[in-house]
Amino acid sequence: MNLLVLIDQSEFLPHVSYVFRVLSSIYQCKLKVLCHDARTEADLGEAQVVISYGDSMPDIQERPHLHIRKSHLFGEHYLHRASLPRRPLAICEGVPMIYLAEGSEACTEFSGQRAETSIDVVASAFFMLTRYEEQFVTETERDPWGSASPRAQLACKEGCHKRPIVNEYFALVQKWLAQLGVNLNLREHWAPADMALCLTHDVDRIRRFRFLPPVRGMLRAWRRPGGRIQAGRMLQDFVLTRIGLQRDPDRISFERILEIAEQNEMRGTVFILADGSRYSIDALLLAEWVRRAARSGFELGLHGGFSTSTDEEKLRQQKTRLEQALQTGEIVSNRQHYLSARYPETWRNLQAAGIRYDSSAGYRHSVGFRCGICHPFHPFDVQEGRVLDILEIPLIAMDTSMFGHAEFSTSEAMLELENLIEQTRRFHGVLTVLWHHNSLYRDEFPTIADVYERFVGNIRQQASSYTLRELAERWNDADACTW
Ligand SMILES: [Zn+2]
Repeated sequence: MNLLVLIDQSEFLPHVSYVFRVLSSIYQCKLKVLCHDARTEADLGEAQVVISYGDSMPDIQERPHLHIRKSHLFGEHYLHRASLPRRPLAICEGVPMIYLAEGSEACTEFSGQRAETSIDVVASAFFMLTRYEEQFVTETERDPWGSASPRAQLACKEGCHKRPIVNEYFALVQKWLAQLGVNLNLREHWAPADMALCLTHDVDRIRRFRFLPPVRGMLRAWRRPGGRIQAGRMLQDFVLTRIGLQRDPDRISFERILEIAEQNEMRGTVFILADGSRYSIDALLLAEWVRRAARSGFELGLHGGFSTSTDEEKLRQQKTRLEQALQTGEIVSNRQHYLSARYPETWRNLQAAGIRYDSSAGYRHSVGFRCGICHPFHPFDVQEGRVLDILEIPLIAMDTSMFGHAEFSTSEAMLELENLIEQTRRFHGVLTVLWHHNSLYRDEFPTIADVYERFVGNIRQQASSYTLRELAERWNDADACTW
């Protein structure tokens, strides 16, 4: 289906085009975006449906036409605080809406083949996808690793951070067009499955036991109901590991990750630190593991270390060091340690350092959709006004946000994960999950280990499993097309 988008402001053509480009990577349509006065009769003739965006509604005859009235984001205050949304957000057709057209009630009116709405889904989607608000975050609103804290993020403050609201905005467009008689269908990127799964594992540590017994871990176990046996086993493991009669639990749990993946015919991406802060990448121990992971079809990626989020040279050096140590070819995927990121600088920086695929855009304090979307997307640099080549595959759930920041029980965590699976499947999206290998040490983390095995068992029938690289290559091949 040919979708023609007309806008009335040439200076924001790249910005508005970007939002529709993301929409057309998710829905089956071919796209052309033009300034209203640059359209030709031929363009109109080939379009099956027209969406216009701006202050006034152009006169379009003989084809379905949706007009979206613009809000105050794309205007004289763009990149200034006055362009930020007003709170609390209105709920429009069940969805929290970040921007509405000036001075109007939220409404969508239909008349024959035409519809006009004051619900500005374009600016609202742009705001979330680009992390627009993060331009205005002050140093006191950042966490110790430089990322915007939840209190500086609108979706967290409004309590809608666990919903893929950009996907919900696009679903509103789909619904309005359906009322005009136009069917916009989701693409089948992951056929025969309805959704994709990206399992990822950050290697933050390679040895559980060092010189002293794990007193804090044992105390935590001791306080758990029935945890005294586990505390005793931890002490036993420590002694046996130290005298060389047993392998370190971090090593066993890494192998467990691979075993679980093999049993369920899945694979994943392992991100490795190359800054020397936690371990040496030349360690024999690590080399053995990663070779086995690579043989099992796992992808090896870079775990960008401290301060690389804005330091291109440092990131490039770490990437080169990892490539030289692993000897498994070019490293193309990255996740920032502690999800440390300042947008859009971090995206720009990763791209300049030669990273092609990133999966750092997620929340540390909670599961959820930091960019409002459950699909891969090319980020847009709001400061330079251009689309970047790097592909972001947003992180949606991680073990530490469920069990570190909130102390979930098995059933609470399973419910949270089921909810994310449901939302991702509804939009044929990608569920990217981070599980640290060391949380599979059962005596220390029985709940986290249990939830992981149950989750993988549940999702195997519902999702196609990919490494980050495989998923990104598949996505880029089928990316938005124009006519
Ligand atoms: Zn890390």
